[in-house]
Amino acid sequence: MSFGVPDHVRPIREKLLRFIEDHVYDAEPIYQRGGPEAEAIQAKLRDRAKAEGLWALGHPASMGGGGMPWLDYAYANEVIGRCDAAMDVFGTYSLQSCLMLDAAGTEAQKQTILYPKVRGDTYMAFSVTEPGAGSSDPTNIQTTARLEGDEWVINGRKWYVSGGDHADWICVMARTEPQDAPVHGAFSMILVPAGTPGLTRVRDMHVLGLTHMNHPEYLYEEVRVPAANLLGKRGEGFKLFQVRLGPARITNTMRWLGQCQRAFDLMCDRINSRKVSKGALLSTKQLMQQHVYDSYVEIQSARAQVIDAAEKLGKGEQARVEVSAIKVAVSRTLHNVIDRAIQVHGALGLSDDLPLETMYRMARVMRIVDGPDEVHVERVGKTILKEFAAGNGWDFGQR
Ligand SMILES: Cc1cc2nc3c(=O)[nH]c(=O)nc-3n(C[C@H](O)[C@H](O)[C@H](O)COP(=O)(O)OP(=O)(O)OC[C@H]3O[C@@H](n4cnc5c(N)ncnc54)[C@H](O)[C@@H]3O)c2cc1C
Repeated sequence: MSFGVPDHVRPIREKLLRFIEDHVYDAEPIYQRGGPEAEAIQAKLRDRAKAEGLWALGHPASMGGGGMPWLDYAYANEVIGRCDAAMDVFGTYSLQSCLMLDAAGTEAQKQTILYPKVRGDTYMAFSVTEPGAGSSDPTNIQTTARLEGDEWVINGRKWYVSGGDHADWICVMARTEPQDAPVHGAFSMILVPAGTPGLTRVRDMHVLGLTHMNHPEYLYEEVRVPAANLLGKRGEGFKLFQVRLGPARITNTMRWLGQCQRAFDLMCDRINSRKVSKGALLSTKQLMQQHVYDSYVEIQSARAQVIDAAEKLGKGEQARVEVSAIKVAVSRTLHNVIDRAIQVHGALGLSDDLPLETMYRMARVMRIVDGPDEVHVERVGKTILKEFAAGNGWDFGQR
């Protein structure tokens, strides 16, 4: 295993980075304000990215994507991640949902949702979490769907439906099986077109003042969709969840590592250039060197863990411990590195002259989304202790 970027991936990474530096960074403040001006600039940059062969690089070629091999794409995504707006510009945001639709969708569902989605022509939000149920464990969810003739009838309340405000479709997870059914086979995913009668967008929701991102709350009251809108088979909701989440944790954490790199670059440049007491450069201060050291160690070890997990998934292993561990390791690293980068910039670091303050707010979100960190810590701890209880131990050299 090597942690360096393979030679054959370097040219595409360089091309992506040049595009981001030349076009996306300048558009970032407009993107973060949201609204029509942001949409216009996004559309222009998307067209440009498509023309330059940089669109949907990691989506399989069979669905109209760039077809980059899994691990190569993870390295490319590390560059795309430097700037949040770049996910939209390069069409990478839809990969998780597209993999799920590809795995379980009927040909009609693929024609109507998947292929347009890969092209960026349609948006499907994903909706599991509920205000009234601890949804870090989705077996808690209360939304139901009952089959009546050739229609599903859905009732429930969902929130944090990211992008729901501009979604054409919502993929909703609901209980379709009786209360006494085995819990992991009791839920299904159903595709609901926006505007279906009975579906109400109760309110828009924003977090930490990030107004360009909307995660509305929805009420389902006797919402009727055709039986054919079931995604996959009845009771397969959790299975599809896994299809969605496994690779997503690699692509997300690689993206966050891209953010770490950007914050690290800003921090080191600042330390090398800012003069403080008696004209001394910050770089002469050991407390500043400590920030560099701590960030270096955290990024290097988190990155090694992500690449290790990605290689294991690439070989077809489930790598549950590794995948859970990286979610926590990288979200913590991201938070810490951006925090230090802000600190060394003083007041400037907190201002919106720099991207750090927005990155910091996003980093805080990451410790809750994709499963709160505690859920992953628990999974890692429990699994390893079970191995010990079974007499197997946990030999790092054999993993
Ligand atoms: C910006 C944003 C975007 C989101 N987008 C979407 C989306 O598009 N679709 C969607 O369905 N959901 C989305 N979510 C919801 C997100 O997935 C949930 O918030 C997350 O799964 C946690 O669920 P919860 O908020 O109900 O927390 P709860 O389940 O109520 O948990 C609350 C807290 O309890 C602790 N906790 C939970 N479980 C354990 C445990 N086993 N051990 C120890 N402590 C524990 C953790 O500290 C956790 O943060 C989004 C959330 C945010 C903030």
